[in-house]
Amino acid sequence: MEESFNLDTAIRKVPDFPKKGILFYDITSILAEPRAFQYCLDAMERLYKNTAIDAVAAIESRGFVFAAPFADRLKIPLILIRKKGKLPGKTISKKYQLEYGEAELEVHPDDVPAGKRVLVVDDLIATGGTLRAATDLIIAAGGQVAGIFGVVGLPFLNYRALLGDIPITTLIEYHGE
Ligand code: AMP
Repeated sequence: MEESFNLDTAIRKVPDFPKKGILFYDITSILAEPRAFQYCLDAMERLYKNTAIDAVAAIESRGFVFAAPFADRLKIPLILIRKKGKLPGKTISKKYQLEYGEAELEVHPDDVPAGKRVLVVDDLIATGGTLRAATDLIIAAGGQVAGIFGVVGLPFLNYRALLGDIPITTLIEYHGE
């Protein structure tokens, strides 16, 4: 296990993507560097192996990449939270606001173990709107939210205001440009 890896060096920063004024923190460069990806998974395992979580929920699509191997390491169920129209079974859905317009996430409530403690995972937490919709879905499906994990956090976008007192953990934070 590598504890001293400098994760910042593995995150590609792309100015003005997807539109002018946004600095995009790209995690594909983590995935392309095995040491960086392993560092993230080792850190997630270390953070949560002694925590009471029963399942992990992953947000499409970059959340899947981190949550799936993590679920396998901890041998816990993996729940997929997907964009509208992708899940084939009985779903519940939640609309939320994007900077421009609206988006909608869905889950199979049958995949959420009743009353169990679910960790919700995405690659990056910006305003927290996506994670708020995801945590609302887990609760609506009958689960409990044990925490939120993001590889990258942008706390200057004030995600805490939307996510209340849910425990939030990130591996690296950026504080604006
Ligand atoms: P939010 O709902 O504002 O917390 O946005 C979170 C979602 O949008 C995550 O799924 C991220 O992948 C993506 N995202 C938002 N802002 C950025 C950014 N500056 N760089 C990379 N991804 C971002």
